[in-house]
Amino acid sequence: MNLTFDTYLSDNYTNKSQIARVLTENWVKNNSYCPNCGEINLNEFENNKPVADFYCSKCSEQFELKSKNAFDIGNKIVDGAYSTMIKRINSDENPNFFFLTYDKTKWEVNNFLIIPKHYFTSDIIIKRKPLSNTARRAGWIGCNIDITKVPESGRIFLVKNSEIILKEKVQSKWKGTEFLRTRKGESKGWIIDIMNCIDAIQKETFTLKDIYSFEGQLKQKYPNNNFVKDKIRQQLQFLRDKGLIEFKNRGTYKKIKL
Ligand SMILES: [Zn+2]
Repeated sequence: MNLTFDTYLSDNYTNKSQIARVLTENWVKNNSYCPNCGEINLNEFENNKPVADFYCSKCSEQFELKSKNAFDIGNKIVDGAYSTMIKRINSDENPNFFFLTYDKTKWEVNNFLIIPKHYFTSDIIIKRKPLSNTARRAGWIGCNIDITKVPESGRIFLVKNSEIILKEKVQSKWKGTEFLRTRKGESKGWIIDIMNCIDAIQKETFTLKDIYSFEGQLKQKYPNNNFVKDKIRQQLQFLRDKGLIEFKNRGTYKKIKL
């Protein structure tokens, strides 16, 4: 993996956003790999394919690329139409998302991460304000992807702060939460919510009491559930079975880093 863009490729372009698109897409095509199966080199879909930008010819995973000229990924990423995005999430047609940040003065990659499609829930898709009446597409509603709501285990860096992460690490982190693909709707929502609660506890070892402190917050989200504590313990058991946490003494848990 080489972190520098092949800038000569944009010699024939003058439009800034076109230049950025050509360089970033080309970089991903030549430098990324499939985090699912490890296949080197991804293939590009024809331009304007509505579903995704890249695919893996070996395992058929699909990837969409979002990039911006910045150092950090930040908290949110601007995406397309809100209704389309929600539809995609619910229909399972959602691709995995690559996020790329780069330095435009040096044309170099700063951060490159993937959020697997199974981490996408409607919680992370935030509706933007409709475009004003004077806009060309008046009334159109876009969305932002709020990545602060994606648990740490779902933010898989291939490059972090200009440092290339070992491919083995990337693939094992990917494999570590693939089980989420079999979960849908509220069942998946609960697992991801508890993952986020665990992330929010600033200790490697935590107690049941620590995690119960989120009861009120969860009750607000699931007002019809009168057994929030039971539900929390059920998710903890599930996460233990999947190797994301370890049960220590009675009521004490340890985080396992993927
Ligand atoms: Zn693959």
